[in-house]
Amino acid sequence: MREFFDVCIIGSGFGGSVCGAKLSGAGKTTLILEQGRRWDKNTFQQTQDVKYLKEIYEEFEGENIKVSTAMGVGGGSLLYSASSLRTSSLVFEQKDKNGRRLWPSEYSRKVLNPYYEKVEKKLNVSQLLWSEVPKRDGIFAKACNAAGYTCDRLRIAIVNCRNCGFCHTGCKFDRKQSLILNYIPEAEKNGAKIKEECKALLVKRNEKGYLVAYKDLKSGVINEVSCKAVIVSAGAIQSPALMLRSKKYLDNLSSHVGKNLTANGNIFLAAHLPKEDCEVFKGKVQGSVTYAFWEEGFVLQGVGTLPISAAVINRIRFKNAKRPNYWGIEMKRVMKEYGKHLLGIAVIGLDGSDGRVFLDENENIKLIWSMSEKSRKVFDKAIVRAKEIVESLGGELLITEPYQEKGEVITVHPLGTCRMAGDKSDGVIDSNCQVFGNPNLYIVDSSAVPSPLGVNPSLTIAAIAERASDYIVQNFQP
Ligand SMILES: Cc1cc2nc3c(=O)[nH]c(=O)nc-3n(C[C@H](O)[C@H](O)[C@H](O)COP(=O)(O)OP(=O)(O)OC[C@H]3O[C@@H](n4cnc5c(N)ncnc54)[C@H](O)[C@@H]3O)c2cc1C
Repeated sequence: MREFFDVCIIGSGFGGSVCGAKLSGAGKTTLILEQGRRWDKNTFQQTQDVKYLKEIYEEFEGENIKVSTAMGVGGGSLLYSASSLRTSSLVFEQKDKNGRRLWPSEYSRKVLNPYYEKVEKKLNVSQLLWSEVPKRDGIFAKACNAAGYTCDRLRIAIVNCRNCGFCHTGCKFDRKQSLILNYIPEAEKNGAKIKEECKALLVKRNEKGYLVAYKDLKSGVINEVSCKAVIVSAGAIQSPALMLRSKKYLDNLSSHVGKNLTANGNIFLAAHLPKEDCEVFKGKVQGSVTYAFWEEGFVLQGVGTLPISAAVINRIRFKNAKRPNYWGIEMKRVMKEYGKHLLGIAVIGLDGSDGRVFLDENENIKLIWSMSEKSRKVFDKAIVRAKEIVESLGGELLITEPYQEKGEVITVHPLGTCRMAGDKSDGVIDSNCQVFGNPNLYIVDSSAVPSPLGVNPSLTIAAIAERASDYIVQNFQP
C-alpha cells in the first residue's frame, strides 16, 4: 500500500532530525526513514562486545580509508563524544587549487551564527570547567603548557556527566544530549512519523513529486512512499550511494556525487606518558583542545577511547615492538599501560578532499582515498607538534599503525560527497541544499558540507540543517 506525505526524510542524524523537527513543526506531514533501530538509555550497553558494536556502528572499509558511523534513530549523536564547536570564519573562505571558493558565496560564519546559537541552545552546549575536564585531558593540557602552547576546555553537549567513559557506546544516563532527547521527540510531538529499521533504496522523480522505495528490514517487504519533497540525510557515505543508485530516476545529477570526500583531517595519535597516571578510560571521552596550530591547519584534542578501538582499530603499539606486534606479549604490553599511562590525541584539520564514494557493478558501496600533498602536509605537521607536546612531559608518541605505517586514514568525520556549490559544475546541491535540476529534492547532512571544518562537525551540520529547513518551509511547493 502506498502512503502519502508532504516530506520524506531519509536518515535521522544531525541533518535528518533537525529537518524533521522543523518541517513537522511547520505543519508538513513528515515521514523519517531510518535503517537502524531505536536505542535509548535502557538498551545502550556499556560493553566492548563486538556483536553489540556491529549493531550500532556501521563500518566502511575502503582503499586507504576506514569510516565509522552510527546506525539508529538519532544517527551519530547516539555514539558521538558530544564535542560541539563552531567552525572558524576562515573555513568558509577556503579555496580549491583553481582559486574557487569552496563554500557558496551566501555562507560565512556570520550567516551561520544565529543557527549555531539555536542548535547550541537545543543541545545544551556549554564550555567545561577545568574541574569537569577528565584527568587524561587535563594532562594533555599540562603537556601543551610544558611545550609552551595554550590549551582550552572543550564545549560539549553533556549535562552533569556521570563520567562513566562509555560515550562511544551510548549514554545510559541521558546526560549526553543525543538527538533522541531533543529534536527527535520534538518531531514526533509535532506529528512526524518515524519508521525505524526501514532502509531507503531509491528516490524516483515523478509528475507529482517523488517516490521513495524502502525496505522494511524486519519483514523484508519493499514499500513505496509518495511525497512532494525528499530530504536525503543518510550521511556522507550512504547519501551519495543512494543518489548514485537513483541516478537514472532523477534529472541530470551532477558528476560530483560521491567525489570530494574529506576525512576532516581526522587521524588518531596516542601518547605514552610513564610519569603520569592518565586514567585514559575514565570520564567523558573528550575534554580539552589546543588551537595553537590553527594557522598550520589543525587542532589537537585530548581523547579517551575504548580499549578495543585502541588495540584493533587504531592499532597502538610501541616503536621498538618486536614483530608480530599486535598480538601476544606486545599487545599485552600496550594493554598493561593502557589504563594508566596512555592518552589519545585526536587530530582534526583542513585536509584535502582526497576521497571518493562509488558503487561497484553490484551497487555495493566502495571507498577510495589517495593522499594529496595538502593532506600529507597537515598530518605530518600535526604529528611533529603532537610529538613535541608529548615529549615535553617525558613521554613518547606511539605508533598508530594505520596512518603512520600505511598512510591509511581512519575517520568518524566524513564530509563533502554531495557538496554544495554555486553551480552544478562544482557541486551537487545549491546553497539551500536543493539538488541542482531536481526541485524539492534536498541533501542535508555531512555530505553537503563542501570543505573540511577543522573542528568536530556535528554543530555545523545541524546549523546548516536549521538554515536549509527555513528555506524549505518558506519555499514549499504544494
Ligand atoms: C564514535 C564517533 C564519535 C564522534 N564524535 C563527535 C563529536 O564529539 N563531535 C562532533 O561534532 N562529531 C562527532 N562525530 C561525528 C558526527 O557524529 C557526524 O559528523 C554526524 O553524525 C553526521 O551527521 P549526518 O546527519 O550527516 O549523519 P548521521 O548522523 O550519520 O546520520 C545518518 C543516519 O542515516 C541512516 N541511514 C543511512 N542510510 C540510510 C538509508 N538508506 N535509509 C535510511 N536510513 C539510512 C543511518 O543509519 C544514520 O542513522 C562522531 C562520530 C562517531 C562515529
